[in-house]
Amino acid sequence: MADYEWLTPIREMVGRQYGRIIAWDEVNPAMVRQWCEIMGVDNPLYTDADYAKRSEFGELVAPPSMLQSWCEAGFYRDSYAPGSTEDNPYTVLKLIEAQGYPSVVAVNSELTFERYVKMGEKLYYTTRFDAISEEKVTALGTGFFVTLVMTYFSMNGAGTDGCDEQVGELLFRVFKFKPANPVTPKTTADDGIAKIKRPKPGISDDTRFFWEGCEQGELRIQHCQACDKLQHPPAPVCMHCHSFELDYHIASGKGSLYSFVVMHYPEVPPFEYPNPIGLVELEEGIRMPVGLIGVTKDQLQIGMALEVCFETFDEELTLPQFKPVASPIAPAQA
Ligand code: ZN
Repeated sequence: MADYEWLTPIREMVGRQYGRIIAWDEVNPAMVRQWCEIMGVDNPLYTDADYAKRSEFGELVAPPSMLQSWCEAGFYRDSYAPGSTEDNPYTVLKLIEAQGYPSVVAVNSELTFERYVKMGEKLYYTTRFDAISEEKVTALGTGFFVTLVMTYFSMNGAGTDGCDEQVGELLFRVFKFKPANPVTPKTTADDGIAKIKRPKPGISDDTRFFWEGCEQGELRIQHCQACDKLQHPPAPVCMHCHSFELDYHIASGKGSLYSFVVMHYPEVPPFEYPNPIGLVELEEGIRMPVGLIGVTKDQLQIGMALEVCFETFDEELTLPQFKPVASPIAPAQA
């Protein structure tokens, strides 16, 4: 496939080196311990100082596969440790994107390491724009494979000629592409096939009373006969006293907005977007996640008074939804 003209300056960038990104912290046992916990790694070489002392290393070392984590940015976007350079090795992806290839997916990551790193070492990496492929057509879409190589060093001057010593390398390849089938969610049928408006819940013996209540216009909350407490969502036992003696109370349907989120993306069928979802605190004191209707996202306010209304979807599923009290919007179907 012939190259595009705009690719020429990008191909000329191949081989370019980008500057240092320096680790915020020296290699340290606290980060190692947390990483091992999260990853389920229980090798005592990384966390047990006495064990490590008797090993061939004579001291604690960090897991090699942890190499990348030492030089990650801080919590906030692009917060790199002082001394790090600002040139951006991902510039090439932006340049490709500007030509109409908006999507990206990581396809390869290969980590090689020269040796174990020890506590107290300060690491940094540099990045090389290694390669860009011809334009490729894949099931995902059409685009380019871009390869970056990060080289990790220890700031100890122990390499050849007093340079810093290379401790590992990370090859990272992404596919930058235009999607083959852009997703355009639809909530109305245009092919003669009725599309559902809500997914169906899984209903069990423990939850059936709740859904049957909805059909009858009742908001039923599970109640423990032993300790008189309420709970939601319904469960096989009381979460407070573990009693099986459960029935339900009919809630007033009034409450207030305890918290909310407005879903914009990704647009997952069959819901409409933006999709406001509230956590309602009922008068009875329990909280329930619900769809919010009759209110725009700008009108949503923590603490606002809400009341239930029941709407039936797909002619078979009745859901409780909440709307502002005194909202002129009537439920679509009582
Ligand atoms: Zn109980």
